[in-house]
Order: sequence, then structure tokens, then C-alpha cells
Amino acid sequence: MTTPVTVITGGGRGIGAATARRLALAGHDIALCYRRDHDAATAVLADVHAAGRRGVAVPTDTSEPDQVAHLFDTAADALGPITGLVNNAGITSPIGPFVDLTVDDIRRVVDVNLVGYFLCAQQAARRMTTGAAIVNVSSVAATLGSPGEYIHYAASKAATDTLTVGLAKELAPRGIRVNAVAPGIIRTDIHALSGIPDRPDRAAERIPLGRPGEANEVAAAIAWLLGPEASYTTGTVLRVSGGL
Ligand code: NDP
Repeated sequence: MTTPVTVITGGGRGIGAATARRLALAGHDIALCYRRDHDAATAVLADVHAAGRRGVAVPTDTSEPDQVAHLFDTAADALGPITGLVNNAGITSPIGPFVDLTVDDIRRVVDVNLVGYFLCAQQAARRMTTGAAIVNVSSVAATLGSPGEYIHYAASKAATDTLTVGLAKELAPRGIRVNAVAPGIIRTDIHALSGIPDRPDRAAERIPLGRPGEANEVAAAIAWLLGPEASYTTGTVLRVSGGL
């Protein structure tokens, strides 16, 4: 059997890092990209190597087409044909009322969370063959709307769900599956960008399971959707949200 080769965007921290570590232990070679945090990406790569797998870390802004092309070229040159993509690199901006959102905040969130996912999915789809799979990291915000918090972020994630369904149907004839996970409130650094770093703990009482999630709990769902046990699952958005 050929070794799976998976590209993970935003693989240096949070959900992406947990996914890289889990997939390496499951036998994947890993290409991860990061934007700024070189040390974090290097630490994840060390764990990939410790698991006996090959890996590369490529500094990439996923909203920039040339950088995304370079990421996929580098991954394929170093590791061979790409069989998986985890579209994960995402951002938010400070929580606040809709009327106070700046055009820069709106554009940057849409550029990274939506345009970036398109660009990476295009690069992947051009290269993938039968048996390959894409997992997009969405959010429960896509259906909750996040009123008073970050509607622009929620809208970018709703678009991710639509991208998932459309792409699943377009790529199905080629034997390529496309799914999404929709995390609830997960304990990662992204909440610092929202201006409320301890948001996961503050939100615990409105989560049916009574606690925020951990990155590894999302990574487990991503790994399942990428893998052969999900061979008949495509076009699905799987919530990993403690019931939120
Ligand atoms: P983190 O902030 O912990 O990690 C984000 C990762 O994305 C980092 O590795 C960061 O790189 C990378 N990144 C950000 N912007 C870019 C860019 N333009 N190009 C390349 N890489 C970039 O966040 P999470 O792990 O929480 O988020 C991962 C995904 O999960 C996101 O799509 C997010 O929207 C989604 N999600 C998260 C939830 C949560 O509660 N945590 C809930 C629902 C969805 P660097 O380290 O270099 O900055």
C-alpha cells in the first residue's frame, strides 16, 4: 500500500497541529504550512519525524495563490503524490457588534477562511487521484450565525460548508471525497484573536456536554473522515461540538 501524503494548512498550532501528530501516528507523511510561528511548526515536524514519518513545513500565507502553489509543489517534490488535504488555517478578529466590523477585518477573514480554502482545494484537486480526500475545517458558527460576536467569520464558515457540498459532488466522479468538520468551542490560541482568550472556559455552561473541546478531539474526526473507514462518506459536515 502506498503511504498517504497529507497537506495540513495551519499545522503548527491548535487543531492543525493535533491533526498532524495524529495522522503521523496513523502512518501519514505530512506537509504542513504555517504563517508566522516557525518554532511551533518545527516542534510539530519533530513529532512527525519521531513517529517515523517524513514531513516538511512550508511558510505559506494560504490567501496568496503563488504561495499556495509553492506549498503544494514543495510537498509533492518532497513526499510524493498528495492523497489528503486538511484545509484548516483560519483566523477571526475581535468580537463585537456587526456595525463595528471594519472592512479590513471582513476582507482578511474572508481571504484566509474562504479564498485560502478555495486555493488549497484547487491545488489539491488538480493533483489528486482516486482514493484521495479533503477535509475542510468549518465551524458551528456557520449555522449559529454568531450574532454580536463575529458574523463575518460565521459567514466565511457557512461558505466553507457550501464549498464542501459542491466540491464533493464535483469530485465524486473522480473518486475523491470532500467533507467538513464543524468544531464547537475548542481550547486553542484562536480565541486570543477574538479578544477573549479564556472564551472556551467562559462558554462551558452553554455547551451541552459542559466543557470546551480539545484539539485532539477534532483531530480524531478529521482523521476518520480522511481515512478509508469513511469510504462512503462525502459532502458531509460533521459537528464536533459537545452538542452546541
Ligand atoms: P489556532 O489559532 O490555534 O491555529 C491557527 C493556525 O492557522 C496557525 O497554525 C496559524 O499559523 C495558521 N494560519 C492562520 N492564518 C494563516 C494564513 N493566512 N496562512 C497560513 N496559515 C495561517 O486556531 P485553531 O486551531 O483553533 O483553528 C483551526 C481552524 O479551526 C480554523 O479554521 C478555525 O476557524 C476552526 N475552528 C476553531 C474553533 C475553536 O474554537 N478553536 C471552533 C471552530 C472552528 P501561525 O501559527 O504561523 O500563526
